[in-house]
Amino acid sequence: MRRALVTGITGQDGGYLAERLLTDGYEVHGLVHDGDAGLPDLLGRSPGVVLHQGDLRDTASLAAAVAAADPDEVYNLAGISSVAFSWQQPVLTADITALGAARLLEAVRELQDRRGREVRFVQASSAEIFGSAGGVQSETTPLHPTSPYGAAKAYVHQLVDVYRQAGLFAVSLVLFNHESPRRPPTFVTRKITQTVARIAQGQGSELVLGNLEARRDWGWAPDYVDAMVRACRAPVADDFVVATGEAHSVREFALAAFARAGVSDGADRIRVDPELVRPGDPAVLVGDASKARAVLGWAPTVPFEELVGRMVDADL
Ligand code: GDP
Repeated sequence: MRRALVTGITGQDGGYLAERLLTDGYEVHGLVHDGDAGLPDLLGRSPGVVLHQGDLRDTASLAAAVAAADPDEVYNLAGISSVAFSWQQPVLTADITALGAARLLEAVRELQDRRGREVRFVQASSAEIFGSAGGVQSETTPLHPTSPYGAAKAYVHQLVDVYRQAGLFAVSLVLFNHESPRRPPTFVTRKITQTVARIAQGQGSELVLGNLEARRDWGWAPDYVDAMVRACRAPVADDFVVATGEAHSVREFALAAFARAGVSDGADRIRVDPELVRPGDPAVLVGDASKARAVLGWAPTVPFEELVGRMVDADL
C-alpha cells in the first residue's frame, strides 16, 4: 500500500486529494495544527486519514511528521492561500509558504537518503508567479509576481527545480484559480455564490465586490487535484501549468450566478467598494495547459457555466 503525506489537508484541495487517494487505495496522512478549522469536515468526509501535528514554521515538528508518516509521496498544499492576506502579513507568508516548503523539501530529501527509496514531491504552485505577464501563460512564461504571495510561490517553484536537478522527483504544478462549493468565501467565487443564494432567498439585497473587470481562468478543483496525482505518477518529474485556457471576468461570474439562482435584476444589485480593489491586481490570468494535456493526458471536465451552476446550487 502506498503512503501519501498531504500538507494543507484541511483545505479545499487537500480534502479532494485525500478522498481521491483513499479511493485509489492509499494510506493517507495529513499534517494539521492546533485550531485547524477544517478538521471536523475532513474527518467527516475522510475518517480514514492519519493525522500528524506539525507546523511548516517549525523544522523539528515537520521532520517528525515526515518521519512518522514515512510517505512515498508528499503533496505540499499548505500555505497562506490568499493574495489579499499576504499583503497584511508578508513576513508570515514568506515564513509559511516559502520557507515552509524549503523545510519540507529538506525533510523529504533526508527521508529519501535515509531509507534509500524514492520519495516523490508535489508542489501546489500558482498562476500568481506570473503576475501581470499578460497574454496566455505557460511553463516558459518568465516569473514576475506582483504580491508577497506570488513572490513566495515563485521562490518555491524555483526551489523545486533546484531539488529536481539534485535528484529528487519533484514537480511543481502552476495552478490557475480552481473553485468548488468548498472554496472559502474569502475568494471571490464563493463570496458571489453565497451572497447570490442569500439574495435569491430574500436574505440579502446587494453584492459588494472589488474589481469587476479582473479576468481569471476558473476551473473545477477536483480536476486540479487529478492533475497533481497524474504529475506525481508520471515517468519523469516536470513542471506543468494547470488551467482551462478560458478567462472570464468577475462581473461575468456574478451575472452567471444571478442567472442560475433566478434573480432577474442581478446586474442592479452589484455594487463596487473601492476598498476591495487590490493594489497590483493582475488584469487577466489565463493559462495554457497544452503540456499537461500532451504529457499527462489531463483535461478540465467542467466548463465555466457548469462550475458557477454547481457552486450556486450547493449554496442554495
Ligand atoms: P486569487 O486570484 O487567488 O486572489 O482569488 P480571489 O478569488 O480572491 O480573487 C480573484 C479576483 O477577483 C481578483 O482579481 C480580485 O481582485 C477579484 N475580486 C473582485 N472583487 C473581489 C472580492 O470582493 N473579493 C475577492 N476575494 N476578490 C475580488
